Amino acid sequence: AGPLVTSRSTSIAASKGLLIRNRIAFEGAYKIDKIVFDKTGTLTEGNFGVTDIQPAEGVSESELLTLAYSVETQSDHPIAKGIVKAGKERGLEIYDVKNYRNLAGKGLTATVKDTEVSVVSPGAMKNDQISFDEKSYEAMAQQGKTVVFVLKNNKLQGMIALADIIRESSYKVIKQLNELGIETIMMTGDNKRVANYVGDKLGLSQVIAEVLPHEKSKNVSELKKDGKRVAMIGDGINDAPALAESDVGIAIGAGTDVAIETADIILVNSNPVDVLNIIKLSKASHKKMV
Ligand code: ADP
Ligand code: MG
Repeated sequence: AGPLVTSRSTSIAASKGLLIRNRIAFEGAYKIDKIVFDKTGTLTEGNFGVTDIQPAEGVSESELLTLAYSVETQSDHPIAKGIVKAGKERGLEIYDVKNYRNLAGKGLTATVKDTEVSVVSPGAMKNDQISFDEKSYEAMAQQGKTVVFVLKNNKLQGMIALADIIRESSYKVIKQLNELGIETIMMTGDNKRVANYVGDKLGLSQVIAEVLPHEKSKNVSELKKDGKRVAMIGDGINDAPALAESDVGIAIGAGTDVAIETADIILVNSNPVDVLNIIKLSKASHKKMV
């Protein structure tokens, strides 16, 4: 009766907005020990809005935003979308942009009017030992804001802070997983301060921050040590290798194609709370099979 029960549970799953691509992974979901969540677009809504614009001396607010806006029009990262929205709202002009390049997990760079303009993370600033107003940065990061730095030929033009909103349903899913004794872990490329802010608010068991894209799957394999079973849930291109490495890979339906194609289960309604249904249904179908 095994297979019949399974196909029934698969159709129940479909009615709950779960698309099962790998039944074996789904069936094993009842015994997972840890769930790793991506932050942006998974635990948070992934809709950044610009909250602060802090130009360096001699730079105007609109010049700072115009530089970032021009370069970010080339990217579809959630941060880029937030900056582009702010540029559009203010009716800023877009400079010609050439030689656009992604700096994996650090930001991006392009040629604008014969100068090199980059928009980068605090981690990249520290790596390249470019100094900035730490106090003002800390104050914004403390509030959970993501701060990016705009450079022109490696010279700081200013900081732009953006805020994202934690999904209302994330509180519920984390609380219930904690109650089930499942470890809840957030893994993000974003800065430690911001990550800890979100981690504290949600009551996560562990926060892994400033993870470069190529390190995500390695982190999952570390978490699998000692026979622990790990599920991973994410939405981005960056998350795909980690989804593949996990025992149960779960993609947000509204996420990028690569994440969706790699996942074992897709959350059609793009709501992380549906993870609870995966565990419930897999438990129920396991009980019926044994
Ligand atoms: P996440 O794991 O949250 O999806 P990413 O690996 O995509 O994070 O990005 C990590 C960090 O790199 C971001 O928090 C940001 O500081 C920087 N970054 C990435 N893309 C951009 C961009 N388009 N503009 C500015 N900064 C970016
Ligand atoms: Mg993401």
